[in-house]
Amino acid sequence: MNEDYDVVVAGGSVSGLLAAREIASKGHSVLVLEEDSEIGTPEHCGGLVSIDAISRLGILPRNNVVQNQIKVAKICSPTRSFEIRTANQKIVVLERREFDKHIALQSTRLGANIRTRCSLRNTKYTVESSDKSFHIITTDGKFRSRYFVDARGISSLVQNDRSGVLLAAQYEVYASWIEKDTVIVEFDSNKYPGFFAWIIPTGEGSGKVGVAGKSINTARTLWSYLESKGGSFSVIRKIFAPIWVKGPIDKFIDGRTLIIGDAAGQTKPTTAGGIYTCGLGGILAGRAISNAIESNNDDLLLEYPAKWTRIFGKEFRNMVLFRKLLERLDNKALDLMFSNIDSKAMDTISRTGDFDFHSVSIRRILSVTGLKLFKTMVGNEYRRLS
Ligand SMILES: Cc1cc2nc3c(=O)[nH]c(=O)nc-3n(C[C@H](O)[C@H](O)[C@H](O)COP(=O)(O)OP(=O)(O)OC[C@H]3O[C@@H](n4cnc5c(N)ncnc54)[C@H](O)[C@@H]3O)c2cc1C
Repeated sequence: MNEDYDVVVAGGSVSGLLAAREIASKGHSVLVLEEDSEIGTPEHCGGLVSIDAISRLGILPRNNVVQNQIKVAKICSPTRSFEIRTANQKIVVLERREFDKHIALQSTRLGANIRTRCSLRNTKYTVESSDKSFHIITTDGKFRSRYFVDARGISSLVQNDRSGVLLAAQYEVYASWIEKDTVIVEFDSNKYPGFFAWIIPTGEGSGKVGVAGKSINTARTLWSYLESKGGSFSVIRKIFAPIWVKGPIDKFIDGRTLIIGDAAGQTKPTTAGGIYTCGLGGILAGRAISNAIESNNDDLLLEYPAKWTRIFGKEFRNMVLFRKLLERLDNKALDLMFSNIDSKAMDTISRTGDFDFHSVSIRRILSVTGLKLFKTMVGNEYRRLS
């Protein structure tokens, strides 16, 4: 027997759950399908986000959700480094398993229904006289809905385009060299072409250590990175996952199907961070669907891409350009760039930087005196940054 819903959402992570929360909060029926056995697991995220961002997503920074607070970001080229004080930006490390479950609880309290271990197989859209509906086939039954939301993450995106995918490895590590307060980002165009290595501390002596890059063996590269730290370590969990760095897809809407989150390419092209930008995608899509249902007017669905692009369009365009610049820099150019960064620029970024819209800070770094050579190398792209 088919169960009927106003909306079915495929994918029970941050974007899908927030869309469901929004829809349920307006009294519409919504079902979330999650193929894994447990919401939030397996966790595949560094969890780095600002307190402001999670507040804007309507989530209180409770103790079980926030693992750690970050005070310093240390950014390294092969032989140079600089530090940004991040206290003003209120950056925290989330326990994603608890964070996702918390949104699931919020959604359920408002009336959403969540099914785990229920994988979407296919959808068929039919129009019969005045009845337009999706027939949704899953591993755990058949459903019908008026609207369908695709929040299946990168697995959905790569069905059409693999060119923006990088492979990442991230291990949970215990090691005395992990400092509680300090995130580390290390660029090296030979070891991590087009991306970087990172350490995100979850506490004193524990953290998530990862690498990503074009055409690299992530397991071998991450092991070398861990060994390069020169102290003992234990790896207590390993994940390998794709990240998307190409920016948003062309169309977030196809008829009554709305695509959100990682599935829509809403992760930052510079860092592949997506908790905030994907989460807000879910909220805006949920609101647009609710408005369309209440007014019986599907034109209102277009509010979702319009609003997301108004908030993030310029930022993402700039980040795509920064990526192109980064991909051109060899280690010599990286070292040259880092050696020109002065303490005044770092002070300004420490005071005024915004973690959620970090292209302004990157632009400031590129603008500091002494980067003439760099600007000459990448002149056209640099001039297009707005
Ligand atoms: C290694 C790594 C580190 C990261 N670190 C950070 C970070 O520090 N900060 C940050 O902001 N972001 C980070 N991100 C990105 C962030 O995790 C994602 O942008 C965010 O989780 C996207 O949420 P989403 O809901 O769009 O998709 P996802 O979190 O990818 O969720 C998609 C969901 O859909 C489900 N699904 C897939 N197919 C089906 C199907 N057929 N039927 C039913 N369900 C299905 C999946 O099981 C999954 O639960 C990181 C990502 C990776 C890989």
